[in-house]
Amino acid sequence: MKTAVIYDDIYLKHDLPTHPENSLRLKYFLKSLPEFDFPVLKPEAVSYELLKVIHSENYIEEAKLSCKEYAPGFFDPDTYYNEYTYDAAIFAAGAVEKGVELLLKGDYEAVFCAVRPPGHHAERDRAMGFCIFNNVAVGAVKALLSGLERVFIVDFDAHHGNGTQHTFYTNPQVFYFSTHQYPFYPGTGSEKENNDHILNVPMAEGSGDLEYRKAYGEIYREAIRRFKPEIILVSAGYDLHRDDPLTGLEVTDEGIRFIIEQLLLSSKELSVPILFTLEGGYNLYALERCGRITFELLQSL
Ligand SMILES: [Zn+2]
Repeated sequence: MKTAVIYDDIYLKHDLPTHPENSLRLKYFLKSLPEFDFPVLKPEAVSYELLKVIHSENYIEEAKLSCKEYAPGFFDPDTYYNEYTYDAAIFAAGAVEKGVELLLKGDYEAVFCAVRPPGHHAERDRAMGFCIFNNVAVGAVKALLSGLERVFIVDFDAHHGNGTQHTFYTNPQVFYFSTHQYPFYPGTGSEKENNDHILNVPMAEGSGDLEYRKAYGEIYREAIRRFKPEIILVSAGYDLHRDDPLTGLEVTDEGIRFIIEQLLLSSKELSVPILFTLEGGYNLYALERCGRITFELLQSL
């Protein structure tokens, strides 16, 4: 697929080496990138008007002030900030905004936003779970404001994307499909929360390739065929890998390959563009392998 990667060094400056969500994650994820010939594009800061649709102005200003005046510190017990965090966060959201723009122009068939901090836990009024602004939600709103009517978000991170689900809970133009360990952090994501455009597929601790084959080979494929989206946005969190230190799932390299392949095949089948944005993943060696698997499939399909 004709693919671009969006990346900026600012993502490495939001950092706390003793924290699992540190800059080495992104370095390892991108280690294999030079083996591929994708253009690497620079993001711009997210437009304030767009960010304001998803987050309250109070929260955006408070996040900025904390980073610029009071860094370092913590927004919640999990979510640190330093003097660069606000900039990294607005360029992470901006990468997804730019990625959607490029896809809608038809310049590329696929875009991978290699960003930090991640986004899917960020709520309207607060940072949460290592996330400051909801990057994938920015992409969905950008697509809707550009005139699309049906956006499909797939979230394969091991944690449920509470922020994404809440953002679009009453908006039937956005379908949210999530597989995640459950019960687990952040506590949301049960089947009881499903409606006609929210489809949570909770996974018991210990679930692995077999369960994910059913989820992505059957449940996901059927849901996306029925919804007929005009774009697919992926919250790509690689902490579902069996080697991840923070989670309890058993998905192997081959399981990850199967999931990414299903996502790309559905994009081809429906002839719609696909954008990935990096969420979690905390084992550096697994991240390196997952990066290579993802780039290989983007190059070969
Ligand atoms: Zn996660």
